[in-house]
Amino acid sequence: MKKYCKSILFVLLMLAVFCFQPNKAMAVDEVDFGIYYQTIEEVVTINEDVPADASLWDKAKHLGKSIINWGKKTWESEITRNFTLGEGESLWYSKTDSNIAYKVKRTKVTTEEELFKAMGKSSEDELTYGQKCLLSSFRAAKSASMESRADASYRKNIKLILTDTGDYATRRNDTNPDVRTDFWPCSSGPTISMSDAKYKYSENSTPSGTEDAYTTTFHEYAHSMDRTFSLQLKPYGQDGKHYTNEVTTARMAFIEGWAEYNEMIESEVMAKEYQNATASLSVESKKKGESGEYSDLDPAEATFEQLLAAEAYNCNTLFSLSKNLNDGKAKITKAFTSTRWNLFRDLKTIVKKLIKQNPEDTEIICKTVDEMFLGKMNEKEFYQMFGKTDETKAYFEKREASKNGGETSEESTSDDKVEIESTTDVTVSTENKLTVESESENDSPFDDN
Ligand SMILES: [Zn+2]
Repeated sequence: MKKYCKSILFVLLMLAVFCFQPNKAMAVDEVDFGIYYQTIEEVVTINEDVPADASLWDKAKHLGKSIINWGKKTWESEITRNFTLGEGESLWYSKTDSNIAYKVKRTKVTTEEELFKAMGKSSEDELTYGQKCLLSSFRAAKSASMESRADASYRKNIKLILTDTGDYATRRNDTNPDVRTDFWPCSSGPTISMSDAKYKYSENSTPSGTEDAYTTTFHEYAHSMDRTFSLQLKPYGQDGKHYTNEVTTARMAFIEGWAEYNEMIESEVMAKEYQNATASLSVESKKKGESGEYSDLDPAEATFEQLLAAEAYNCNTLFSLSKNLNDGKAKITKAFTSTRWNLFRDLKTIVKKLIKQNPEDTEIICKTVDEMFLGKMNEKEFYQMFGKTDETKAYFEKREASKNGGETSEESTSDDKVEIESTTDVTVSTENKLTVESESENDSPFDDN
């Protein structure tokens, strides 16, 4: 019984720690990045495969080593990287090969000059293209635009690891060791990990490696700002990979869509990339043995639920709202931060809150979102998205009347159609491809807060 009580106390304590909610007064003044430049010194073999006919003793030794390595790996990735990251040599355990770890060397850098010095260079001109991509990520972290996100962040300290993979990374990720995957950009919350591996071969691509690294830093930071719970069981389907136009789930699509929206407002090139991704959807097979097998889905044939489960439709909804609403970016940020403790939220949570906080914008919000989802919402889905207020009910009636050729409502005339006054031109063509023409956007969504 005593043990039982202790367990309950422990759970309550953990819940109290977890649920401790910083209020607005605790908003962070500035994004305090601890930035580390990291090089791969050596690939270390930490365990050997044993042949099938090995002795029981050898198999037992291998198993014992695997268990110890798993413990060390978990400690390194969950504790060291997030809470006790320091300078000097350390082991970075491979995600893709349990027999391998990377001996890495980390140096803390606070200025570009310190970064160049850590890279063994004296100026930007001397950097390899991969190092220029890391410099780009460094600059994103130090930018005024990043700084302006501080008010919307509840994390005071973020660590950014910039891994220079040198000659270890290759263009493809099907090699062993798979350096690209082992150092793939990600955010654990407190720590963002970036490396040159994904970008160093993209000098002449669109987006270029440096631009991609810059906007991805915002993408990962947006994840660090977000408390929404990821699905734990195969969040991205069987192959564990996710694509902007893939149909996954509403919640995962919102998590990624929020991060991609943060890229879109930083880069016109990325905005176009994500807009293009709405043209055709991709669905991964759920059948056993068909991991990574995708089929195309025409958005015109998709259900509303399927569109809602696509990242591209999430980020573009937020982006269009940010353009169509006066002070749109600040309003979206407010809706995002004020629903932070809805851990299971998705796009509907944000849109509903947006209407609640800005009832005068109801028509613009409804029209923007409804167009994005190709008018596919039925009545139930419509109210799940927008909530039931006098304004949303009025919009719904007008929408239904308009669908019926204006015959069911006296008020429904062509003059009643909602017009969006905006510099952005949002249209849905007959092919249901979304075209958004927007002006270059250099300001920050958080400046208006
Ligand atoms: Zn992401």
